[in-house]
Amino acid sequence: MTTVSPPVLRLEAVRRVHPGGVVALRGVSLEVAAGDDLAIVGPSGSGKSTLLHLMGTLDRPTSGIVHLGGHDTAGLRDAELSRLRARQLGFVFQHSHLAERLDAVANVATGLLYAGVPRRRRRARALEALDRVGLAHRAGHLPGQLSGGERQRVGIARALVNEPALVLADEPTGALDQATGRQVLDLFREVHAQGTTIALITHDPGVAAVFSRRVEIRDGVLTEVATGVAGARA
Ligand code: ADP
Ligand code: MG
Repeated sequence: MTTVSPPVLRLEAVRRVHPGGVVALRGVSLEVAAGDDLAIVGPSGSGKSTLLHLMGTLDRPTSGIVHLGGHDTAGLRDAELSRLRARQLGFVFQHSHLAERLDAVANVATGLLYAGVPRRRRRARALEALDRVGLAHRAGHLPGQLSGGERQRVGIARALVNEPALVLADEPTGALDQATGRQVLDLFREVHAQGTTIALITHDPGVAAVFSRRVEIRDGVLTEVATGVAGARA
């Protein structure tokens, strides 16, 4: 008997109309399977961030279904949804959004606040996650003492620290110079190779090309572009 594990995340005919009447998503369906490395590519204004917010249950659709970790999220109250999100998802944004007064390890530990990990275990877990992104030696540094690339790596460690079923990243290399962006992208590939499922949003086809599965979004409509082996780095 073969068993097929259910998708980590499933969107079905999702529409999102923003206040003011902008239709940002026009019936998007998308499944993310465990083990995927997915790039969602599209030009500015195409609906990428709106989609990421819905995938991340940070926003609710106007209509359609968002299924996460076996739950139809429409049936969950905000507090239940927060708990589900904390267990299932890790987020990386364009700007690392670190707390400037907390050192690197304390910033990473904030990723465990709502995940039900006892306080005394948090620091050790955070140090492990910092080690995964190659920054164990910067654990005691404040964000202001770190480079842009290091700050983003701390942000990635914070997303990984609760071992989420899915990491969602919105333009994580968008604020970095090209060389640093590539290092951060290499880190995502490494993390994926170690078993983490990733969905990354980008406007840059060169970034998307290193992912094995690519979907494109244009004017709120999603199309599958490629499933297979990641293309050669440009
Ligand atoms: P992208 O991330 O691809 O640049 P967005 O998802 O941010 O695209 O935006 C898609 C469309 O929805 C754009 O037309 C944008 O102006 C609009 N939009 C995004 N967020 C809001 C909002 N909070 N209120 C009103 N319109 C919005
Ligand atoms: Mg965006």
